[in-house]
Amino acid sequence: MSRRKSIVAGFSVLLLALQAGAAALDNAVERELPSLLAIYKELHAAPELSHFETATSATLAAQLRAAGFEVTEGVGKYTSPGFQGHGVVAVLDNGKGPTLLIRSDLDALPVQEKTGLPYASSVRFKMPGGQEMPVMHACGHDIHISSLIGTARVLASMRKSWHGKLILIGQPAEETIDGASAMLRDGLYERFGRPDFALALHDWDDVPAGKVGLTPGFALATSTQMDITVRGVGGHGSKPEKAKDPVVLAAQIVLALQTIVSREVSPFDQAVVTVGTIHGGTKRNIIPDEVRLELNIRTYKEAVRQHILASVDRIAHGLAQAAGMPADRMPIVQVMDNEFAPALYNDPKLSARIAPAIIRELGADNVLELPPVMGSEDFGQFGLDGKIPVVMFRVGAVDPARYAEAQRTGAVLPSVHSSLFAPLPGPTIETGVRAMVAAALELLK
Ligand SMILES: [Zn+2]
Ligand SMILES: [Zn+2]
Repeated sequence: MSRRKSIVAGFSVLLLALQAGAAALDNAVERELPSLLAIYKELHAAPELSHFETATSATLAAQLRAAGFEVTEGVGKYTSPGFQGHGVVAVLDNGKGPTLLIRSDLDALPVQEKTGLPYASSVRFKMPGGQEMPVMHACGHDIHISSLIGTARVLASMRKSWHGKLILIGQPAEETIDGASAMLRDGLYERFGRPDFALALHDWDDVPAGKVGLTPGFALATSTQMDITVRGVGGHGSKPEKAKDPVVLAAQIVLALQTIVSREVSPFDQAVVTVGTIHGGTKRNIIPDEVRLELNIRTYKEAVRQHILASVDRIAHGLAQAAGMPADRMPIVQVMDNEFAPALYNDPKLSARIAPAIIRELGADNVLELPPVMGSEDFGQFGLDGKIPVVMFRVGAVDPARYAEAQRTGAVLPSVHSSLFAPLPGPTIETGVRAMVAAALELLK
């Protein structure tokens, strides 16, 4: 309470009202916490991979229905045949007012959990092709689902304190960044209403539990997947004069690609060009016919992204020409359009509106301004290219004692997607619910 006092010092009447409101919210969240923790541990022990979120979506749907929402399941249409949409949409209509969408994702990752927690996952999933994969909630989407259920329960119980329409969604396939577009393709906004704002939270590996972080403006980067098939003319390793070596050409391309960011992109724009895989050849004395490169490209601005895509194509073709590659053996450059994530641009006005509400709820010391990162998410899709303001904030997930220890020793904490990532669920979920409810009440007042 002392922190809240310091922010609103002097406004004693306002302070009393704020304290009463915050205390009511504290109590409502505290009441739900044991049940949310139990749900979290169940979800954590039973993670499901992207596109296969059958049980997870059923759990979320049942919980939101029990909280009083009108729930539709199976929302989502993928372009790849064979995948079923496991999206959940829960609506609570509470009279005239704005429409707010709050999103959680549902999916887990092919990671073998090594946290040693009593509720650790030992799940192995058999892919349709027969391949077996370990599965773990290594990104904390189980934290998001539990927080969404808590938010639903608290807002449903506080129906007299807000008005408008709440649309809560469980989005599948975030990790493969095709779930948000699948839900939109299935008529999310046409069927359930177009929101005036959309909010989401993500747990964070670099912030202690109990705190949240806001990043107004660009917060997460665009992500583009690109393949280059460097073709050559194969032959005997002892007779390079009879061949056109794609291994040497691929090596030149990999190095030349590094000059795009260093020499072509303005130092004031952020960009990353990573060649993540390089595969070619079968035996040391054979010059192969081709080498395959898999690239990942990150930017904030669309114009910078377009520039880089064109440069990759230009460099690959130009170096092939310089190597004297025949016209019919030029490189094939492909952009995977269905694996594209737009940048997450946290609307500055919406950020400025919810920040004071979250500060009132958690205290100024517990609300940080965090720098953007080059990671990617498909939550930005729900903003329809800037037509709907969206904000995703980050919720600290690290045990504060471990965080302090790491600060002291310089130890590196396990990041999201690591087999050792272990959020401290109690305070993380509690903080997530309190921050999200505070933001929702501000937008629906
Ligand atoms: Zn992730
Ligand atoms: Zn995630």
